Amino acid sequence: MLEIRNIFKSYGNLRVLDDVSLSVSEKEIVTIVGPSGAGKTTLLQIAGTLDRPDSGRVIYDGVDVGGMKDRRLSEFRNRQIGFIFQFHQLMPEFTALENAAMPALIAGDSRKAAFAKAEELLGLLGLGDRLRHKPSEMSGGERQRTAIARALVNSPRVVFADEPTGSLDSRNRDEIRRLIADLRDRLGQTFVVVTHDPTVAAIADRVVNMADGRIVTPPPAC
Ligand code: ADP
Repeated sequence: MLEIRNIFKSYGNLRVLDDVSLSVSEKEIVTIVGPSGAGKTTLLQIAGTLDRPDSGRVIYDGVDVGGMKDRRLSEFRNRQIGFIFQFHQLMPEFTALENAAMPALIAGDSRKAAFAKAEELLGLLGLGDRLRHKPSEMSGGERQRTAIARALVNSPRVVFADEPTGSLDSRNRDEIRRLIADLRDRLGQTFVVVTHDPTVAAIADRVVNMADGRIVTPPPAC
């Protein structure tokens, strides 16, 4: 479904990605682990079309997104890709329902359709009684679940998560980890997750180890 081929990326003299190739299948949970500075976030951003590589190709269902102009790429990203970040990045002035519906409204869905989808997902994620709460009125775990609903609202081909449990306590970490596994099982959702959390890596179908801008096997000693 997703093919990343021979990606190179440098910032100035620093080579951050050095010939990285990776393929992700539908309904797969792939985690990317490795030391800080290994290039994991950069790879996620390039795979998620938020950044462009210096060379190499990112191919979704046979379509090379490198050939898309920025506007077309934004539309593609909005509809086909979901993101979950370490810090929820919800908009503070909006309710859980409004935050979760936002990508669907941006995609041009009617308010009715967008809010219905967001409500269904928030219910599925156990937030049916938090629809009209603002982020400041929710716990860390509830905020992150709202962010997950927002990532899923357009039924994306793939969800990229960058340290999704990094800012949570152990109870909420467990809950988010279980949710990711459950969403794959129930919705067939594909996930690519950058994580330092060994319990998140434990739910993966495949663990990809990175060091110094390359994919390495076997895992480096930590
Ligand atoms: P990881 O996620 O594995 O910790 P990153 O992909 O965030 O690694 O970063 C890899 C390297 O690239 C780091 O040395 C980081 O400082 C550098 N880097 C990342 N983004 C930028 C940027 N926008 N400008 C300059 N250097 C960057």
